Amino acid sequence: MRISEIFTKKKAVFSFEIFPPKPTSDISAVHDTIRELSSLSPDYISVTCSAGGSGNARTAEISALVRSCGVEPLAHVTCIHSDRAAAQTTLNELWDLNVQNVLALRGDRIAGVAESKDFKYASDLVRFIRQTSDFDVAGACYPEGHPESRDLVSDIRNLKQKVDAGVTHLNTQLFFDNEDFYRFRDNIALAGIHVPVQAGIMPLVKKSHVDRIISLSGAKIPAKISRMIARFYDKPDSLMEAGIAYAVDQIVDLLSAGAQGIHLYVMNNPYVARRIAESIQPILNEINGD
Ligand code: FAD
Repeated sequence: MRISEIFTKKKAVFSFEIFPPKPTSDISAVHDTIRELSSLSPDYISVTCSAGGSGNARTAEISALVRSCGVEPLAHVTCIHSDRAAAQTTLNELWDLNVQNVLALRGDRIAGVAESKDFKYASDLVRFIRQTSDFDVAGACYPEGHPESRDLVSDIRNLKQKVDAGVTHLNTQLFFDNEDFYRFRDNIALAGIHVPVQAGIMPLVKKSHVDRIISLSGAKIPAKISRMIARFYDKPDSLMEAGIAYAVDQIVDLLSAGAQGIHLYVMNNPYVARRIAESIQPILNEINGD
């Protein structure tokens, strides 16, 4: 089913994001993860890809596994180091595997790799996909602004162009302060962006996540999270519980405020996904009238 159709049927869509194993790794571990995630009945599972293109065959392979487990896949496709011919090959491969939904991304630049002559921004890829195929196309957005953007106003202006090129829903970058999401939601509505927006939630449950997120994502870290990290950084069990509790609290607030969807960055951890999904399922059921 197309994800745009799911949004017409549900008031709050719930999905997971996973990443493929390295090209040389065995696929069985991720297959087990997908089976476990599928048992939590997400509306779809998205599968990341590398900006360099090297891991993209695995994105298609894992997307097909998601489908074989009875869940709708959303395959990520990047373009900054790709050209039209390579993008078309990726899209054909996905279509042949019965994947009908893609998340069109520019991707982060890889130093030393030549940039695309065909695609400068994700909106170029969205336009290309719309012209050449029949996928549902999702896009990325940034409640705190994309790190490269001059300011939020120009970022939202650029987002409007991307949506107008043919995006059917948006998934946000992770954020920890819901007020940023609410402000963003109001601002994009004023800018004339009316496609559904799913809030991206990353549970901070491991020391390694904390280190990576703080150094890479550029997300604002609220005092409540700083205190949690300071207190439990070296206490794995407590950090796990505190991180899950924070994510559930964040999601309950988002759903209370009418968020149209929650996209959980589960980092291939079905235990965390289960704990969060089971906590919020009754609320999702109530909202969706299940
Ligand atoms: P764009 O929408 O092209 O925006 C990039 C920058 O260009 C922004 O600053 C924007 O304001 C600016 N811009 C856009 N259009 C114009 C214009 N016409 N004129 C001037 N400036 C413009 N990366 C991966 O490599 N693999 C993944 O699987 C992946 N999945 C992701 C999933 C989500 C939900 C999110 C939020 C991000 C993901 N990323 C992934 C990261 C993403 O690739 C990077 O954040 C990248 O830097 C920007 O990609 P984009 O598609 O948002 O780019």
